[in-house]
Amino acid sequence: IPMLRLDRLLANLGYGTRTQMQAMAHAGRIKLDGAALRDPALRVAATPEFCARLSINGEALDPPPGMVIALNKPRGVTCSRKEAGPLVFDLLPPRFRLREPALSTVGRLDKDTSGLLLITDDGALLHRLISPKHNIAKRYCAKLARPLRGDEAEIFASGEMMLDDEAKPLLPAVLRVLSPTEAEVSVTEGRYHQIRRMFAATGNHVLELHRMSIGDFALPLTLAPGDFLLLRASEAEAAV
Ligand code: URA
Repeated sequence: IPMLRLDRLLANLGYGTRTQMQAMAHAGRIKLDGAALRDPALRVAATPEFCARLSINGEALDPPPGMVIALNKPRGVTCSRKEAGPLVFDLLPPRFRLREPALSTVGRLDKDTSGLLLITDDGALLHRLISPKHNIAKRYCAKLARPLRGDEAEIFASGEMMLDDEAKPLLPAVLRVLSPTEAEVSVTEGRYHQIRRMFAATGNHVLELHRMSIGDFALPLTLAPGDFLLLRASEAEAAV
């Protein structure tokens, strides 16, 4: 269990500099079970259990490292700093950008894609979720410009589907028809613009794309676009 100074723990969670955290502790604004913790040099355990007992300015402390954020990504925000537009990180409390270790998105969704995006500071979990070896299913709902032809499920499932400029065929994917112009697709890879390119290869065009789940973890229907919830890495691990 990592033990560290109270001021270091809080600074690593993005609440401010260590000097600021020392001042907050002296001012009695950091509490353990409701009682002021005035010694910033106190060595504490950065466990979820301990952090759940701490408050800062009367608010519950953010989870320590080993955190997973499930975000309902709206359309129009990007996962990459290289693209123009607001970033998914802008939807989170600003202090989250200052956390150490840093948060990263688990793979990416296109700017125009909405739905479940996981964000974590847990490198091992991140690797497990994006590594093609682990074959984690990602389920999407696609709205299409034209009616389905009828042979898409067979093509997607074949394991022989080739995308332009790629040397390896796509792993089998599962398509379920929802309506003449809507389908659910489950893929285990995460190639660039994969779902859009799969439908383009069948002469169609994706108008709207929404990710519903990663592994067994489904986007809660109560989570509005732009909203997020916090999970422990261990909870996420169990779900995927
Ligand atoms: N496939 C796409 O085309 N876009 C995404 O954002 C995700 C999967």
